[in-house]
Amino acid sequence: MNRVNLLDLDLPALVDFCASIGEKPYRARQLARWLHQYGADDFAQMSDLAKTLRARLPEVAEIRPPSLGEAQVSADGTRKWLLDVGGGNRVETVFIPETGRGTLCVSTQVGCALECAFCATGRQGFNRNLSVAEIVGQLWWANRALGRDPKGERIISNVVLMGMGEPLLNFDHTVRAVSLMLDDHAYGLSRRRVTISTSGIVPAMDRLRERMPVALAVSLHAPDDTLRDRLVPINRKYPLKELMAACRRYVADAPRDFITFEYILLDGVNDQPQHAEALLRLTRDVPCKFNLIPFNPFPHAGFRRSPAQRVRAFAERLAEAGLVATTRKTRGDDIDAACGQLAGQVDDRSRRVIRRLELAA
Ligand code: SAH
Ligand code: SF4
Repeated sequence: MNRVNLLDLDLPALVDFCASIGEKPYRARQLARWLHQYGADDFAQMSDLAKTLRARLPEVAEIRPPSLGEAQVSADGTRKWLLDVGGGNRVETVFIPETGRGTLCVSTQVGCALECAFCATGRQGFNRNLSVAEIVGQLWWANRALGRDPKGERIISNVVLMGMGEPLLNFDHTVRAVSLMLDDHAYGLSRRRVTISTSGIVPAMDRLRERMPVALAVSLHAPDDTLRDRLVPINRKYPLKELMAACRRYVADAPRDFITFEYILLDGVNDQPQHAEALLRLTRDVPCKFNLIPFNPFPHAGFRRSPAQRVRAFAERLAEAGLVATTRKTRGDDIDAACGQLAGQVDDRSRRVIRRLELAA
C-alpha cells in the first residue's frame, strides 16, 4: 500500500485521513501541530498521540518534505535554498530578513510557461506543478533552519508566493498550501501576511477571492495593452480592461484591502513620464499600492535596469498623485536570489531554450 505523505494534506484532508484509520478529528489537529508547528519528521516524536497510533502511523503514512539541496547566505543576510524536486529539476526558496519582519519567497512551479520577456524563470520553460508538500515544504524547511527569535516568535512572519512559477496556474495545490499557512493548527499566519503574486490569470483571481482572499500582488509592468502584450504575453488572453475589473472585484468586499501592483522598470521601455501618466489613468478606480522593482539582469536578458534617477522620478510622479509607491531594494544580488533571477534548474519538456538557440543560429 502507498503511504500517504502527510505534508500533502491540508486540515480537511488530514481529518479525512484520520477517519480512514478510525481516528477522531482532533487527532488531525494534533498531527498538524506536530508537523507544521514543531517541524516534526518522525512519528516517534509525537508524544501526545496514543502509543498504538504512533506505532501504526509509519505503516500508512510518511512525512516527506522535498529534499533540500544547497543553501547559500548572502552578505546582506538573504538566504537561498535549492530544493531538489526530482528528475534533475530544482526550485528555489529565498528568505529576506528586514527590520521587524522576515519574508519567505516561495516557488509554486518548476519553471513557468508564461514567458514574460524579462524573467529568468520564464526563459527556462515549464516542467511541472509543485505538490502541496513541495510548496508548504519550503516553509517547513525554512522554519526548521531559522527557528524562533529570543521572544519565541517565528523568524518568518510573512510569505510571498513570488518565487518560480505562476501560482494561479497551480491553483489547487497553491490554495491548499496557503490554507496550511493560514491555519492556526499549522503556521497561523494572518491572511494579510501571505501574498500571492500573479501575472493576471483573471478567472483564477475570482476563484481565489471566493476561496481564500489573501493579499494579492499583480505583476503589471506596462500601462497599455500593446506594451503589456510584449512584456507579459498572457495579457493577450486577459487584457488590461479585464484585469483591472478583476482587481476591483478582488478588493470590493473588504474596504481595507488593496492590490499591490508590481512594476519592473526597464530602461527606455516602460519608465518614461508618459508611462507613469498612463498608469495613473489605468489604475484610477482600483484601491492599490505600487511596488516598483529595479530590473535584475541575467545573461541574455535583453533589457537594462532603469537609472536610479528615473526610478525616483517615476516613484515621485505616482506619489504626487496620492499613491503609495515603494521601490523594492535589491537583495541577495551576490547569490542570484533577487526577483526574477530564480532559475533553479528546469528540464523544460518543450525544450524551449534549445529551440530558441537553434532559431537564433
Ligand atoms: N508568476 C508570478 C509570480 C512569480 S514572478 C508573477 O509573475 O507575478 C514574481 C515577481 O518577480 C513578478 O512581479 C515578476 O514580474 C518579477 N520579476 C520577474 N523577472 C524579474 C527581473 N528580471 N527583475 C526583477 N523582477 C522580476
Ligand atoms: Fe512566469 Fe511570473 Fe516569470 Fe512571468 S514573471 S514568466 S508569470 S514567473
